Amino acid sequence: MNLESLIRPHLLALKPYSSARDEYTGKEGIFLDANENSFGSATHQLYNRYPDPYQHEVKALIAKLKGIDPSCIFLGNGSDEPIDLLIRLFCEPGTDSILITPPTYGMYAVSAGIHRVGIKEVVLEPDFSLSAPNVLNAADPLTKIIFLCSPNNPTGNLLSKESIRQVLHNFHGIVVVDEAYIDFAETQSWIHALSEFPNLVVLQTFSKAWGMAALRLGMAFGSRALIGFLNKIKPPYNINAVTQQLAIEALGNHTAMNTFVKQIIEERKHLEEQLISLPFVLKIVPSEANFLLVKVKEPKLLYRYLANGHIIVRDRSLVQLCEGCLRITVGTPADNKALLKALREFTES
Ligand SMILES: *Cc1c(COP(=O)(O)O)cnc(C)c1O
Repeated sequence: MNLESLIRPHLLALKPYSSARDEYTGKEGIFLDANENSFGSATHQLYNRYPDPYQHEVKALIAKLKGIDPSCIFLGNGSDEPIDLLIRLFCEPGTDSILITPPTYGMYAVSAGIHRVGIKEVVLEPDFSLSAPNVLNAADPLTKIIFLCSPNNPTGNLLSKESIRQVLHNFHGIVVVDEAYIDFAETQSWIHALSEFPNLVVLQTFSKAWGMAALRLGMAFGSRALIGFLNKIKPPYNINAVTQQLAIEALGNHTAMNTFVKQIIEERKHLEEQLISLPFVLKIVPSEANFLLVKVKEPKLLYRYLANGHIIVRDRSLVQLCEGCLRITVGTPADNKALLKALREFTES
């Protein structure tokens, strides 16, 4: 793969915005270069200075945790930002396309739609596995990015290593593996394969296992050259100072995250065992994530019943291959107990 030949030509030549903090990176001094308010902030805490545009401290900690060079890490305002930037970087509106494998995360198609980029769909197999030959056959020379989600949302299963490897080997564009739920899965991240596949981008997030969805912090891992291009087209200060500071705090407390993961997996098992014993539950997809896709007899009715009792799940019953299914996030033991109680009462009603 030749990275430069994949990138939209006008972006290869683009001269990026040079921020005050790009032009002078020292930390000490009297800073009169960024039109900040030198007196302070209207808040108790001080937020008057622009944050580090490249989040060096956060990236150093992530680099250590993931065993990767900091120059191969991009941080975004949620994973949604790298998804959007990757499409902008590689796809010419009105001409190029991305390829997705429904049922999957909705943002790939929305982002492509916003940019007037085409969307090719290769539906997963009935068991939610990936057919690499089908994907490779559907991709054409104008297909620039293939988005694979593993563990997949909303189904919860992992896509097989062999099928992803086959796509990476044979597709001459970018392959994004979205690992938003990787911390709940018993498998290795694709980060380890970055040196083998220059066309691979791995996405992870602080929104799920780390429990920091409100802060909006997503990670993209890729070759140094590719990450360099994302940096070139990103908004200069895309990660705010509070998020950077709290990410540093979280990364110093990795055991908290591990504990969450252990609890969530335990609760997932318990919930699955209990749900499958209910007479109207037809099937539960084995999950490697923090949710269960549950096929039930009357999804709409059940959804309304639960919502009336203030238990909100996701109705996926109209999604292709997910007919009849509700997606249920694993809650705390108390949440799950309340859910199961309501469901048992539904049986009796
Ligand atoms: C939740 C989720 C994300 C995370 O998105 P953020 O913007 O980082 O909150 C990414 N991909 C998938 C498949 C998800 O389900």
